[in-house]
Amino acid sequence: MKTAKVLLIYTGGTIGMMTDPATGTLKPFDFANILKYIPDLNQFDIKINFISFDRPIDSSDINIPDWIKLVEIIQRNYNSYDGFVILHGTDTMSFTGSALSFLIQNISKPVILTGSQLPIGMIRTDGKENLITSIQIAADKFENGKAKVPEVCIYFDAKLHRANRTTKYNTNYFDAFASPNYPALAEAGIDITYNFKHIYYQQLDRLPAFYKQMDKNVAILKLFPGMSEEYVSSITEIKGIEGLILETYGAGNASSESWFINKIKNAVDRGIIVYNVTQCSVGKVDMDRYENGRKLKEIGVVSGYDITTEAALTKLMFLLGSKMDTESIKETLGKNIAGEISV
Ligand code: ASP
Repeated sequence: MKTAKVLLIYTGGTIGMMTDPATGTLKPFDFANILKYIPDLNQFDIKINFISFDRPIDSSDINIPDWIKLVEIIQRNYNSYDGFVILHGTDTMSFTGSALSFLIQNISKPVILTGSQLPIGMIRTDGKENLITSIQIAADKFENGKAKVPEVCIYFDAKLHRANRTTKYNTNYFDAFASPNYPALAEAGIDITYNFKHIYYQQLDRLPAFYKQMDKNVAILKLFPGMSEEYVSSITEIKGIEGLILETYGAGNASSESWFINKIKNAVDRGIIVYNVTQCSVGKVDMDRYENGRKLKEIGVVSGYDITTEAALTKLMFLLGSKMDTESIKETLGKNIAGEISV
């Protein structure tokens, strides 16, 4: 087999950070810093090329133009590489991974996001293993030359997850990400064990599609007992809002008080797409289970099933950016387009 080629894209994040002596806080540092700490990269029988954001960022600063920049880098290099590894901060990695899963579709090559909880320059860093195994998975192929994981994934602490199923749930330990509603796609021990039946393989080899439009007129309304009418209105009446994620209780339930239902109904009637996503990590929205959930269904709220908030937000941004009409967007929200929901 030919030597595999992987493109490593550095956006920033803890993995490449160093302590600022003036403040004692961690700050993004340039890419050469990472390479200095992993001389082993040269020993790989994989050819690795590097691209870095001009200004590496803490991922709390990530924004839609950065996602588009990543799409463009991958599109430009798609035919020249077997796989892609994106080094990214953990704080918003699940948002970026979810966004990329909608913006880059029909891929036949792995796109793997990784990073670390401790900078690469620290002796106990988790960055080295995360990076090395990500590169290995990005280059891994079957004997027929097809990639083992042709998906947008997050590799972290020995587990490979479908990115749009993940959420950052841990700030303290190395297993920063959970995928509460979908099994890991691979686990790395002495060998890398793939969970082939949960990896998505295209039936027909379709050409990859790269999209570059996202609409930021979206908001998240998290419900809590005791919320005021002003709180709800301040969100449903945002100027220009087109999509609203309603973070509901349990199986997709909300207050049945008439002022609340009327405000949401009014939003739906004004053409705002309201998407029901549960605050629970595990399980799904079922608006037929309780009377309170059924009220939301009756006024035209769309079910998010078992989607994460990260995937719901980026799916809405993506679909609104596609300029489809409202009814088609509502219909597509209920469909699985990148493995993000179990329907
Ligand atoms: N604040 C950092 C970031 O997201 C955290 C990390 O990388 O783990 O960029």
